[in-house]
Amino acid sequence: MLTEKAAMYSTLGISKEVFAFGTKIEEELKERFAKIDEIAEYNQLKVIHAMQASKVSEACLYGTTGYGYNDLGRDTLEQVYATCFGTEDALVRPQIACGTHALATALSGNLRPGDELLSPVGKPYDTLEEVIGIRPSVGSLAEYGVTYRQVDLKEDGSFDYEGIKNAINKKTKMVTIQRSKGYQTRPTLSVTRIGELIAFIKNIKPDVICMVDNCYGEFVETIEPTNVGADLMVGSLIKNPGGGLAPAGGYIVGKKKYVENAAYRLLSPGLGKEVGATLGVNGSFYQGFFLAPTVTAAALKGAVFAANVYEKLGFAVVPNGTESRHDIIQAVTFGKPEGVIAFCQGIQAAAPVDSFVSPEPWDMPGYDSPVIMAAGAFVQGSSIELSADGPIKPPYAVYFQGGLTWQHAKFGILMSLQKLADAGMVTL
Ligand SMILES: *Cc1c(COP(=O)(O)O)cnc(C)c1O
Repeated sequence: MLTEKAAMYSTLGISKEVFAFGTKIEEELKERFAKIDEIAEYNQLKVIHAMQASKVSEACLYGTTGYGYNDLGRDTLEQVYATCFGTEDALVRPQIACGTHALATALSGNLRPGDELLSPVGKPYDTLEEVIGIRPSVGSLAEYGVTYRQVDLKEDGSFDYEGIKNAINKKTKMVTIQRSKGYQTRPTLSVTRIGELIAFIKNIKPDVICMVDNCYGEFVETIEPTNVGADLMVGSLIKNPGGGLAPAGGYIVGKKKYVENAAYRLLSPGLGKEVGATLGVNGSFYQGFFLAPTVTAAALKGAVFAANVYEKLGFAVVPNGTESRHDIIQAVTFGKPEGVIAFCQGIQAAAPVDSFVSPEPWDMPGYDSPVIMAAGAFVQGSSIELSADGPIKPPYAVYFQGGLTWQHAKFGILMSLQKLADAGMVTL
């Protein structure tokens, strides 16, 4: 059996040395993987429970056209999300174009001129800078008279409670908390830490709306930010909760009033959640959500495997090989451009789609240095599928995430290692 497997790896271009190195690392991770499977099992049951309690029927799998009035599948799916995440209401729509759009909708639906938004965890995700108006941008919250304040994390990654207390004022209407580190080097926040932060903030100002950007965090733990006090939680369906099957979309869950406010902004004042045809996507949304816990577990195993492989070879990895996980992103620092490029080319070469193309760094709009991206995905830009990207600038780190199956994630990482070995950048 083993020789058969080794032979197949060889057919796909993985050398004996790389295969042996990976096999050894995998053996050391048995216990770690068992824990990930435990969480996936719990979350699988949580999703099934939500589907049963919401009485999902075959009719829900079909969609509407036109206005989309009385879309049973859409309305029931929103009930499933609300039940699963323990919230009063949910907005789960293919009309939400991406995570940034979901966040922009939640923010602009709930903020009014004269209000202030606070980020108590430092700079938010790049694309939000233009949504908020940190970088001047047409249509930003700043243009509508919404001000913004930010309190950075302390040097050691802890919350600056004193600074947060001083930043909260009578204008503070909303707080945005990003769970994942995104493309920064700070640690990702655990759900427990998010809960502590929200409790502190609510103690100072009980009526402030606490929103969590949950991108890449869903189903990594057994609890979500909405279980620890978040009023709103937002994410993308081409990340964890879409399970790889959702062809587009985003979600906003939380308190009824705040979700409705977001719906009036997404659709129209007066219409809100009542409209929005689902066309043909309901079936994929349901099936993707059903698969999301195990798909997230596969991606998580890939991240842990990559951390251990590259840590062993002497590269700096965030999180490190043994740290607890709160999102599916893995950063590996190579210290030179060739490392980032070889890694991404390896991920691309392992893809089921477009494996024959070789990614190159390019000047992407909105970035201050060339960026290289690897993605051979079934859904364009889907980052729950195996993908990697890295800006070509110091410290020359690559950000790696996804993998619809653990086996594919493993193959991708071995292929990245193969490319680095071929280029003489690692010795096994
Ligand atoms: C992916 C992501 C977003 C949104 O990005 P989109 O590409 O618009 O989906 C926002 N915040 C974080 C932390 C993310 O990881």
